[in-house]
Amino acid sequence: MSNITSNVLLIRERIARAAEAAGRSPEEICLVAVTKNRTPEEIREALAAGITDIGENRVQEALAKVEAVGRGCRWHMIGTLQTNKVRAALGFADLIHSLDRPELALAIDREARRAGRTVPVLIQVNVSGEATKHGVAPEGLRALVEQASALETLEVQGLMTIAPLAGPDVVRPVFARLRRLAEEVASWQLPRVEMRWLSMGMSGDFELAIAEGANLVRIGTAIFGPRPG
Ligand SMILES: *Cc1c(COP(=O)(O)O)cnc(C)c1O
Repeated sequence: MSNITSNVLLIRERIARAAEAAGRSPEEICLVAVTKNRTPEEIREALAAGITDIGENRVQEALAKVEAVGRGCRWHMIGTLQTNKVRAALGFADLIHSLDRPELALAIDREARRAGRTVPVLIQVNVSGEATKHGVAPEGLRALVEQASALETLEVQGLMTIAPLAGPDVVRPVFARLRRLAEEVASWQLPRVEMRWLSMGMSGDFELAIAEGANLVRIGTAIFGPRPG
């Protein structure tokens, strides 16, 4: 068995254990394999091991990989999105995790109208307030969700966050806060806004995220090994 295959199995086991410990069903948790800086060959191996969802954080790189490995899986745009890349992003992404500002919502709406379609998005929240992280501040979440809700092409399907590189006592409250924010958003009952996905948890912290309700985890190095370069 290759490393990628055995890592996928191992991660699935860890997801299942974390879910069960939280009294949740492992089936409700979607594993997104993050393939930035990975080769199409590595992606094919992950797909052969049963991966159904692939996450990329750069549009150009993603387009090249979709071209190489095809559309037999769901593709997630998990990285920061520039407005001038929106058209290209819509060309590959089944779900955009990184809506974080009003101009981006407007740009997605413009391109979606042009393409005559709707676009599922998650709102990225900078829960930890780190200056280096993208995402809307929790205080700005309501205004951004209301704006997105008013745009008929946008389907807001949940929230996403990236936790700081820190210990569990710092990281877990970040995940708990995102869950509570999602509950708050759901209580507003806005059109085209449903809190179906909580995208949180990466290689180093996905078990904590699952304990706090994550149902989309984004995992790179724990599947593919340390990132080259
Ligand atoms: C790279 C990346 C991940 C995966 O990180 P690992 O620590 O390699 O699991 C998850 N989410 C985002 C947004 C990323 O850019």
